[in-house]
Amino acid sequence: MHVTIIGAGLGGLTLACVLHVNGVAATVFEAEGSAMARAQGGMLDIHDYNGQHAVAAAGLMDEFRGLVLEGRQALRVLDRDGTVLVDKADDGTGGRPEVQRGELRQMLLDSLPDGAVRWGHKVDGVRALGDGRHEVIFADGGTVETDLLVGADGAWSRVRSLLSNATPEYAGTSFVEIYLFDADTRHPAAAKAVGGGSLMVPDGAGGISAHRERGDTLHTYVVLDRPLDWFTAIDFTDVATATARVAAEFDGWAPELTALITDADTAPVWRPHYALPTGHRWPRVPGVTLVGDAAHLGAPDGEGANLAMLDGADLGTALAAQPDDVEGALAEYERVMFDRAETPVDRDAVIASLFGEDEVPQVLLDMFDEHGR
Ligand SMILES: Cc1cc2nc3c(=O)[nH]c(=O)nc-3n(C[C@H](O)[C@H](O)[C@H](O)COP(=O)(O)OP(=O)(O)OC[C@H]3O[C@@H](n4cnc5c(N)ncnc54)[C@H](O)[C@@H]3O)c2cc1C
Repeated sequence: MHVTIIGAGLGGLTLACVLHVNGVAATVFEAEGSAMARAQGGMLDIHDYNGQHAVAAAGLMDEFRGLVLEGRQALRVLDRDGTVLVDKADDGTGGRPEVQRGELRQMLLDSLPDGAVRWGHKVDGVRALGDGRHEVIFADGGTVETDLLVGADGAWSRVRSLLSNATPEYAGTSFVEIYLFDADTRHPAAAKAVGGGSLMVPDGAGGISAHRERGDTLHTYVVLDRPLDWFTAIDFTDVATATARVAAEFDGWAPELTALITDADTAPVWRPHYALPTGHRWPRVPGVTLVGDAAHLGAPDGEGANLAMLDGADLGTALAAQPDDVEGALAEYERVMFDRAETPVDRDAVIASLFGEDEVPQVLLDMFDEHGR
């Protein structure tokens, strides 16, 4: 068996790693030219109930622990006027350790044999050849044929068309992403508001969410539930005007919170949220499947990367366990993945995992009840 994986994101790379530790050969074809082609985004909390299972399946728990940023499981929840509602320290026992996404991806890449990832291979199209075989066509005109094709190519997957006609639609919310650097010295009020880990300031379906990344970089996601045309009316290349437009939505909020927008050291970046229909699934098609966002893209809820990794680990484990029954392995993988993907995030369990069963602050429960969970 040789597995052809499209996409070197966390889903595709976890699959490749789990296959590799189980002695199954795989090649990952990635559109980007190298691991360094693009900044990989901010921190991810990798959960003990999903993402960490995937890390363990890849045999990389020691390496993973070495990446964990100490103290980043601290959580502060503030009201818009700056009132501190929750201030929870990181006691080192939480089940959601934070790592930098780029470092996690590099950990997976480092564990693969040389040549396992073929960079600069953008897939343009895919074609069924019959008998479970597929042809992959690259943008440069090159092709490969494969007995087992896995689409780990994210939101705008090219492989998905072999399985389903579904396409992602705008989910009604967007992030505007902003960084503040050297915050303890240059932006002390904002740094104090965020604290040592994460800050949440909920506001209906939106709000402000910020993280302290490596060092004292503050990474803010401004969450806005506005239609697409509200954002397209903003010229994000005009940094000052775009920043002021976004900040205007938080008029009257405490200055240490609006500073996370107005003191930006980077241009604000608009990240609209797209989602596939809930319950997206397909009948079994021989020789091909999907993992991660390609299969079940949803608006960010803190689980997507964890689920992509778990998909990759589950699929790799199933294929390694049944090398003579690939279709059986794919069917078993998809059955579990489909059920998992359509199960809504259990907010009560998430809150309990943050605070312990009996220690959830009442003010937080009241707030979630008010804003919906
Ligand atoms: C702003 C934001 C914040 C998020 N925060 C979190 C969080 O805190 N926690 C969490 O768990 N999840 C988070 N998510 C969700 C998470 O990022 C995704 O669910 C996760 O990255 C999906 O992994 P993946 O491997 O399926 O896809 P991707 O990470 O999208 O990887 C797909 C790969 O395929 C490659 N590719 C795409 N098209 C082609 C092609 N045609 N040919 C070849 N290669 C191709 C891409 O270059 C990429 O390397 C966030 C998402 C966003 C947008």
